[in-house]
Amino acid sequence: MLDSKIRNQLEEIVGQERLLEKPEELICYSYDAYLEESMPDLVLLPVTCEEVSKIMKICSSYKIPVTARGAGTSVCGASIPIKHGIVLCFSQMNKIMEINTKDRYIIVQPGVVNIDIQKALEPFKFFYPPDPGSMNVATIGGNVAQNAGGPRCLKYGVTADYILGMEVVLASGKTVRFGSRNVKDVTGYRLSGLFCGSEGTLGIVTEIILRVVPLPETIKTILVTFDDLDDTARSVSDIIGAGILPVAMELLDKLTINAIEDSANLGFPREAQGSLLIEIDGVKEACEKEMQKVIEKVKANNATSIKEAKSDKERDELWEARRSAFGVFAKLAPDIFSEDVTVPASKIPSMIRKTVAIAQKYGLKVGILAHAGDGNMHPMIPADKSNKEEWERVEKAFDEIVEAAVSLNGTLSGEHGIGLAKTRFLPLVMNEDSIEFMSVIKKAVDPDGILNPGKFV
Ligand SMILES: Cc1cc2nc3c(=O)[nH]c(=O)nc-3n(C[C@H](O)[C@H](O)[C@H](O)COP(=O)(O)OP(=O)(O)OC[C@H]3O[C@@H](n4cnc5c(N)ncnc54)[C@H](O)[C@@H]3O)c2cc1C
Repeated sequence: MLDSKIRNQLEEIVGQERLLEKPEELICYSYDAYLEESMPDLVLLPVTCEEVSKIMKICSSYKIPVTARGAGTSVCGASIPIKHGIVLCFSQMNKIMEINTKDRYIIVQPGVVNIDIQKALEPFKFFYPPDPGSMNVATIGGNVAQNAGGPRCLKYGVTADYILGMEVVLASGKTVRFGSRNVKDVTGYRLSGLFCGSEGTLGIVTEIILRVVPLPETIKTILVTFDDLDDTARSVSDIIGAGILPVAMELLDKLTINAIEDSANLGFPREAQGSLLIEIDGVKEACEKEMQKVIEKVKANNATSIKEAKSDKERDELWEARRSAFGVFAKLAPDIFSEDVTVPASKIPSMIRKTVAIAQKYGLKVGILAHAGDGNMHPMIPADKSNKEEWERVEKAFDEIVEAAVSLNGTLSGEHGIGLAKTRFLPLVMNEDSIEFMSVIKKAVDPDGILNPGKFV
């Protein structure tokens, strides 16, 4: 519970309407898309950097925990206020400040939803490539704090590759700005790389300058199916190994395809053991040539069907179906354990075999969904957390999947982050000195540890 004197000081900054304190209001901010919950004492909805700065000055003087929040779609528990305190929710700080396609940038406030950036750029024939599956709801502030990825990141790179500049309020309430509107800028430390992916533990992002790119002339999308999951996975590493770089190469296994079909009925072949959704873009001739090479590779790996999207509508339907995979999977059981390990692309076939074997060992179902081209796998285990015995098996399987990825030169997370879910695994991929180095940085910018406490450092 917050002292009423502090509560009143905070109310003076945002006003009564943007301060939430009733339990029925607070509960929505106590969880995200992960499996834990913790109630905040207060939720504030700032709309300007000045408000954020004033709030942070108060929180810093009273050492109150502050957890920033966008749409709360984190799947690693990054936005759960595990030490209570204040949630700063950015849903109302959602203005697009400037679009400048001649100089290839857009300036946005943190609460702008990813899809609204895409919609705003479309009339200019530009786009912002990072496209997390949650893009219809997730905010750009959350994307930046998690260094979000998505299907298109295979060719275009992740959020960090698009940040030109940022405005950040530190724990002390001081406001720092770095980067600029310039695509090339080597002025001082590249601090966007420090704050991007820091999960709100180092500062509160209040404005972002993003690089944008022109829409391609042509896009070609195919759905390929296989009778064997190994053939599906091998196609991925063969395509990448041949020097072909599709925009996206998404792998779905039988369980996932059937979960999608049960919900969307799009004609995905239910009997296929694996399928690949592959997209190529560029100038028309190059696109056709590349697609031909892709088709050769999948045929060499015994593809059973290849269906090309014939219109934008068909293409959109395929992508909507892919994006729905996480949601429709959730219908299979009360809880879903969703993984995010990444391995080098050549190790995808081994990683899939290991994952299936681990699930079998613990008597669990597993659905395989992967941004396969960049080795980023999302095995999903449907289960019931209230069934203690089953959940213990899920947790053991989860540990072994992480260890398997690390043993294949992989890593803990490709895009979902560390949050509450994976802090304990950090020593698997970082030595003691490296973890200590992160703590040194944290202490330097947030000496009292008030920013998103309880998360990875
Ligand atoms: C169905 C589904 C599909 C998904 N698909 C993908 C995917 O393809 N790729 C991917 O990368 N992720 C994916 N995610 C995970 C999630 O959507 C992303 O991590 C997203 O970037 C979170 O955005 P958000 O607005 O919901 O942030 P939140 O969940 O609210 O917050 C996430 C983190 O960002 C911090 N934060 C938020 N705003 C700020 C700010 N202004 N300043 C500082 N820190 C801030 C929070 O403190 C927290 O640590 C998916 C999630 C779901 C539920």
